[in-house]
Amino acid sequence: MVQRKICIFRNGTQVSMKTQKILKCKLESNGFSVHTKFCEDAELIVCIGGDGAFLQTVHELNFPHIPIIGINTGHLGFFQEIQPNQLDDFILNYKQGKYSIQLLSTVKATTTIDGKEVVHRGLNEIIIRGDMSYSIHLNISIGGSFIERFSGDGILVATPAGSTAYNYSLGGSIVDPRLNLLQLTPIAPMNTTAYRSFTSSILLPTDSSLGIEPEYTKNHGLQILVDGTQYSYGDIEHISIGVSTKEVKLLRFETYDFWSKVKSKFL
Ligand code: NAP
Repeated sequence: MVQRKICIFRNGTQVSMKTQKILKCKLESNGFSVHTKFCEDAELIVCIGGDGAFLQTVHELNFPHIPIIGINTGHLGFFQEIQPNQLDDFILNYKQGKYSIQLLSTVKATTTIDGKEVVHRGLNEIIIRGDMSYSIHLNISIGGSFIERFSGDGILVATPAGSTAYNYSLGGSIVDPRLNLLQLTPIAPMNTTAYRSFTSSILLPTDSSLGIEPEYTKNHGLQILVDGTQYSYGDIEHISIGVSTKEVKLLRFETYDFWSKVKSKFL
């Protein structure tokens, strides 16, 4: 009989290592074959850690098509569905098929530099900001129509899943994951007689694309931050940001309720 495969990834904390060991034993005694390296034919990926570990796993595995579930080991744990003391319930519910798959959309930035394109994908967000502490100026268009010349520290484009992360700290809105959209949130926008920028977030439908043309007033570059990872570029000509075709399949159990989670984590 072919064994059902599950892959486990974790961060380096003691509690995550301990949880991995216990989970491996429990899964194996339930007939699963457990792997700590990625297997194309696995049916589930388990990520042990916090949201940071979850994001890292998603990026390392290049946005896998296999469903993924998170076990929270002492962090905020917004993506993480279960606690280390719920492993038996998790295995029972999983074996009985008592779960649903939440599809998380991702955001894609295509950056043109010297005529060549570089692509970045984010699960939480993509941020454009200055390479140094100068303000930056970005000509922003939506669906090909010029909207504003943004001046300030930068802009952040969040997915619904990323709305509760950096976006929220910047005063952006929390988005119910049943809504499919992108949120453009300004970072310290300048709104004076010299510079005019929107000061609130803008919500965009998933079929619209955001065009960004940097205006270089001083000789310095830009940073693109993707889910916390920083990339620095010199002469960006154009950045196009929209929803990516890649989705993350997050396993959720029957008790999952987004707004209860928001309340328990933020209030
Ligand atoms: P980090 O700077 O070590 O952690 C930032 C915090 O954001 C952690 O508490 C993390 O949760 C939490 N977080 C991550 N994704 C979240 C989500 N979708 N909803 C709610 N909270 C979330 O960086 P990291 O752990 O590698 O995570 C990268 C993310 O950090 C970035 O994508 C960005 O959104 C966020 N960030 C936020 C700020 C800010 O709010 N001022 C600044 C920098 C980066 P865990 O504790 O469970 O890991």
